[in-house]
Amino acid sequence: MRYSQMFLPTLKEMPSDAEVISHQLMLRAGMIRKLTSGVYSYLPLGYRVIRKVEQIIREEMNRAGAQEIFMPTVQPAELWKESGRWGFYGKELLRFRDRKDSECCLGPTHEEVVTDIIRNEVKSYRQMPLNLYQIQTKFRDEIRPRFGLMRCREFSMKDAYSFDVDAERSDESYRKMFAAYNRIFTRCGLKFRPVEADTGSIGGSYSHEFLVIADSGEDAMAYCEGCGYAANMEKAETARPETEDTQAPLLSLQEVHTPEVRTIEEVCAFLGVVPEQVVKTLVFSADNVPVAVLVRGNEEVNEIKVKNFLGCDVLEMAMDDMIQAAAGSPRGFVGPIGIKCRVLADYSLIGLHNMVVGANKENYHLKNVNFGRDFQVAEFADLRVIRESDPCPRCRREIRFARGIEVGHVFKLGTKYSKTMKAVYLDSRGQEQYMVMGCYGIGVGRTVAACIEQSHDGNGIIWPLAVAPFHVIITPVNMKENSLATAAEELYAELSAEGVDVLLDDRDERAGVKFKDADLIGIPMRVTVGPKNLALGKVELKLRSTGETNVLSGSEAKAEIVAAVHSL
Ligand code: ATP
Ligand code: MG
Repeated sequence: MRYSQMFLPTLKEMPSDAEVISHQLMLRAGMIRKLTSGVYSYLPLGYRVIRKVEQIIREEMNRAGAQEIFMPTVQPAELWKESGRWGFYGKELLRFRDRKDSECCLGPTHEEVVTDIIRNEVKSYRQMPLNLYQIQTKFRDEIRPRFGLMRCREFSMKDAYSFDVDAERSDESYRKMFAAYNRIFTRCGLKFRPVEADTGSIGGSYSHEFLVIADSGEDAMAYCEGCGYAANMEKAETARPETEDTQAPLLSLQEVHTPEVRTIEEVCAFLGVVPEQVVKTLVFSADNVPVAVLVRGNEEVNEIKVKNFLGCDVLEMAMDDMIQAAAGSPRGFVGPIGIKCRVLADYSLIGLHNMVVGANKENYHLKNVNFGRDFQVAEFADLRVIRESDPCPRCRREIRFARGIEVGHVFKLGTKYSKTMKAVYLDSRGQEQYMVMGCYGIGVGRTVAACIEQSHDGNGIIWPLAVAPFHVIITPVNMKENSLATAAEELYAELSAEGVDVLLDDRDERAGVKFKDADLIGIPMRVTVGPKNLALGKVELKLRSTGETNVLSGSEAKAEIVAAVHSL
């Protein structure tokens, strides 16, 4: 490609409405332009990178035995009603009616459509395993689209769906996708970590998110350098304390008048105790039934863990009347003794003595409360949010936190969709069975944004070679000088013939301007053709990532570039 002919509208100034570096650089490098909130056009440079990432995804999906299909964007409401998600999905699902007044939506994901295809076509165990994927436009009416391609409303996703005869084979499909994802993100030149994740609104039984390590990431992960355990914050388990400390003397129970003292901080200040000694009693409404959850005053309850433990559909903080009915007191003075509802205690309470709790009596707390003597808890569980430097739930080394960008997600769906949508097959004995499914997504644009977040400097983007829009840029320092132009053209033709993606900066611009643009758009290798070197039959090869510069003969430079590209 010749720079002079390329539609590459770069910007000198930092766009003021872009908050993260990937968004700023994509705009400045002329990769994308915004049409409306969360909706972008890809310009030639941006689309080249998108295509490179798609190609890596395609190669690895094919290698893992998946087959490419292409499903529609417009989906009928009936399918979503069958799966039960029409009512469940909320406003992210963009719904509309067609001229015949039929309800439709723009697909935010394709479980319903693919399950419909498969249930109509696959009847026998002999037709599985199957893994179908597409790279296709999704629409999600995100409440807060931001950060450019990172969180937009219309975006390209690779989504794959596996169908197997039983859970064991489905695990095998999941493992294959897990391995393919590791290869895809490694080939994209990313530093990432697969982390255990909650299954959220898609449902199902098991999942991993692939997080690209970046401080600007919207997701947080907890990980252990000792054993490699890694999970997102919602999912990260906390260890049950190993020993029960039975040494402390049990002091006598005391009721204390604590007028208007409600929060943990107020209780601590009033009674002169530390939060670790205070027990927080939170009353939840689990499918409209009250449940009390106890956790240490310095810890936070993880509602997802509570919801999963209870197996309820809707978990909310209880309203005042429910609290009053269960505890006989208003919020702020609730405690476990005598409360009239199910009580769960977090593991953090194990080994605690002489606790401070609410008295279930307005304006009163209890001091020196002890398990066994004063009250019983039948159910202890992991119900709190993990904290940095907690012991690892697997090996008890210190947990660390990092931030990341979720670029991919693999789910075991089990029979969630095959049951609601009746995707069945006949097994070898002629018995009808439900298919066991998995689904696997990668955000293409978000992966590109993550590459930039991880790889840039003050001058612009630094593309990993595998996803770069061009492998090399040839920069003749002066196009008006015939010998320079001719040498540059020759190298351009030779490298192109070897399958190298070359951008020839044939613009009539000063060398400084050309160098600045080359750095901004992040081309990994730059060949400078200048008069001094050329007089000796040489050119300069510079690497964008390290700044390393070598003066080589034209054929040496060519050999080095071709070798780097062919090793991809
Ligand atoms: P998030 O929690 O970030 O909203 P999600 O859990 O909704 O993501 P999935 O439904 O698992 O995402 O979609 C698969 C992949 O699609 C994600 O891993 C991500 O890379 C990409 N993706 C999801 N939502 C968006 C979006 N609004 N803009 C760009 N990419 C997205
Ligand atoms: Mg989402």
